[in-house]
Amino acid sequence: MSEQNENKMEKIVSLCKRRGFVFQGSEIYGGLRGTWDYGPLGVALNNNIKREWWKLFVDSREDMYGLDAAIIMNAKVWEASGHTGAGFCDPLVEDVKTGERFRADHLLQDNGIEAEGLSLEEIDSLIADNAIKSPKGNELSKAREFNMMFASRVGATAGEEGKVYLRPETAQGIFVNFKNVLDSMSPKMPFGIAQIGKAFRNEIAPREFLFRVREFEQMEIEYFVKEEDWETEFEKLRKDIVVWHKHLGLSEENIREYDVPENDLAHYSKRTIDFEYNYPGKGFDELAGFAYRTDHDLKNHMEASGTTMEYIEPDGARFIPHVLEPSFGIGRALTAVLCEAYTEDEMNGEVRTYLKLPVHLAPYRVAVSPLLKNKPHLVEKAREVFTELKAEFSNVAWDDNGNVGKRYRRQDEIGTPYCLVIDFDTLGEEAPENKDTVTVRNRDTGEQERVAIADLVGYLK
Ligand code: ATP
Repeated sequence: MSEQNENKMEKIVSLCKRRGFVFQGSEIYGGLRGTWDYGPLGVALNNNIKREWWKLFVDSREDMYGLDAAIIMNAKVWEASGHTGAGFCDPLVEDVKTGERFRADHLLQDNGIEAEGLSLEEIDSLIADNAIKSPKGNELSKAREFNMMFASRVGATAGEEGKVYLRPETAQGIFVNFKNVLDSMSPKMPFGIAQIGKAFRNEIAPREFLFRVREFEQMEIEYFVKEEDWETEFEKLRKDIVVWHKHLGLSEENIREYDVPENDLAHYSKRTIDFEYNYPGKGFDELAGFAYRTDHDLKNHMEASGTTMEYIEPDGARFIPHVLEPSFGIGRALTAVLCEAYTEDEMNGEVRTYLKLPVHLAPYRVAVSPLLKNKPHLVEKAREVFTELKAEFSNVAWDDNGNVGKRYRRQDEIGTPYCLVIDFDTLGEEAPENKDTVTVRNRDTGEQERVAIADLVGYLK
């Protein structure tokens, strides 16, 4: 990977901290690996991504239903889904001297060895044959399975009784509510249930900023189809995912669809596509997953819970639907959006950094400033314009720090598409023909034009 790309990622991480997008979790106590906190602008960007996703996949369609299930679920859910068993484990090896733990498949990949879907024995022999050591140069232990679920307890009981798990995916919350949605909404086939929420995985080695963390948010859909329709519906949803990634502003050449080869598919999946993004300094890696999971999940829950998961057609025909699962991690999407938007160019003879964020994702749509903050009549007029725009768009910033040049640089760095300045012309004090107009500066071109206050809402839309 080129040095330039590695630097780009470092610059983005540092911009995220400097400008209030993302902070290290528990930072003042030395941090906590695999956790990150979203600052004021990170929350805004995150919320915008979630809102746009919900609009596209739920609100604009007739065949999607929303859900918000509890994070803590009955342990039986995870037994039925297979998460408590080997199905949700990663291979772990330890540095025998320091006790540091690593994901064995990642260590192999870091040494240029393909490591997808290997057994523990295969991992051990590859480590031995290639004389792979820990990053500190020490011997490695034998590989063993490590379950990634976080366990906790409910209530005051000791022992196994109160044992629960923090959900490692939002999907199971959807399956266990399948019957509730059927009974309450009477959906017609095919239909989907969508959920956005937190998921927790005790990753052995969290790394690469928001890419692999222990607490993250997912946006997931379980789309229920008749078995014979899965291929047609798969193709339709695949296209919807392509549209979504365009909507995030991600360019075609940075997205790759990896059709997971048959021998690497999970045993219940007949087809899986990983949507990969070309992360700077890392290369193509999974941004979102899209899997055809047959009737595996509903069948398992039906068997384990004794509750029927059958769909009944108007003519009385009964069947367990098959399911297509598009699954998106918000942190990985947010990182991709930032990587795509991060731009350096030259303006007025100086290097400037700006985030070329799509307007619908930018934390602020517009920043409003009085030219000078010590002129009460300018401030008063600017406040008037600010209040009017805030009522319309809500994500409007008030910025009177430093001089106008500095404000532009700061707003560029956080991706604000437009800056408005209320000056003496606005008040009609210098050029009467400009009365009640403001300067609007465009983030990408740096160009400025005068726009009548009365036309601002239309202009900014
Ligand atoms: P990987 O192979 O990279 O570990 P996965 O195949 O286990 O990912 P899924 O179980 O398909 O991931 O989860 C769906 C989505 O959730 C992923 O595409 C990703 O966007 C997100 N995701 C999964 N694990 C993490 C994590 N530890 N940190 C951040 N996002 C994650």
